[in-house]
Amino acid sequence: MSILENLSNIKKSIPEHVTLVAVSKTKPIEDILEVYNAGHKIFGENKVQELTDKYENMPKDIEWHMIGHLQRNKVKYIAPFVSLIHGVDSFRLLSEINKRAEQNNRVINCLLQVYIAEEETKFGLDKAEIIELLNSEEFKALKNVQVVGLMGMATNTSDEKQIKKEFSGLKTLFDELKLNIDSFSTLSMGMSGDFMHAIECGSNMIRVGSSIFGARNYN
Ligand SMILES: *Cc1c(COP(=O)(O)O)cnc(C)c1O
Repeated sequence: MSILENLSNIKKSIPEHVTLVAVSKTKPIEDILEVYNAGHKIFGENKVQELTDKYENMPKDIEWHMIGHLQRNKVKYIAPFVSLIHGVDSFRLLSEINKRAEQNNRVINCLLQVYIAEEETKFGLDKAEIIELLNSEEFKALKNVQVVGLMGMATNTSDEKQIKKEFSGLKTLFDELKLNIDSFSTLSMGMSGDFMHAIECGSNMIRVGSSIFGARNYN
C-alpha cells in the first residue's frame, strides 16, 4: 500500500480527539511532503540533527515534535522551532529546555516520559519522581516550559494483556495528575504496533511511523 493509503486508513480508524504524530525518522523529504501535501502537518523525529535538517528544508507551518531521547547539549538546536518535546526524563533537561526557550522568547511544551515497560532499555521517570518534580519549587520557577502531559512506551511484546496493563497504568497516573495541574491535556502513548490498544486505554496522541511510511532500514 502507498503512504497516502496508509495515512488515510489510520486516520479513518482513530477517533477525532486523538492527535496523530507521523513519525518520519529516517524517511526522505519527498515521503514527508507527500503526507504534508495531503494536509497532515504534525511530524515526529527522534534525532536532533535530522530534525533540524528537515525543519530547515521543509514548509514552515509544520509542527515538529521531538520524540526521542534528548541530550541537554543539543536542546539549543531545536529550541527555536520545536512544538512539543515528548521525552523529558529529568529536571536538569527540563531546566535546560527552559533556558533555551527563554533565549528564544518562547514557551516550549513538554511531556514527561514515564517508565512503564518491563524492559531495562527504555528511558523515563517513575510515578514518585514525576510527583516530586511537579511539586518542586525549582520546577514551579521555570517560566518558559509548560508540562502539558505524559508520554510512555509499552513493552515491545505480543502480550496484549501486558501492553494494556502498562497503558492503563499510565492513563491512571495522567488522570490523577490532571486533577491538580491545569496545563495537563496530552497523553502520548501508542505506536504502529499498539496504537489501537493505547487509544482504548485513553491515549489522545499516537506516534506512528512504519505503519504510514513503511519499514525503516535503520533506527
Ligand atoms: C520510532 C518511534 C515511534 C514510531 O515507531 P513505529 O513503530 O514505526 O510506529 C514512536 N515513538 C518513538 C519514541 C519512536 O522512537
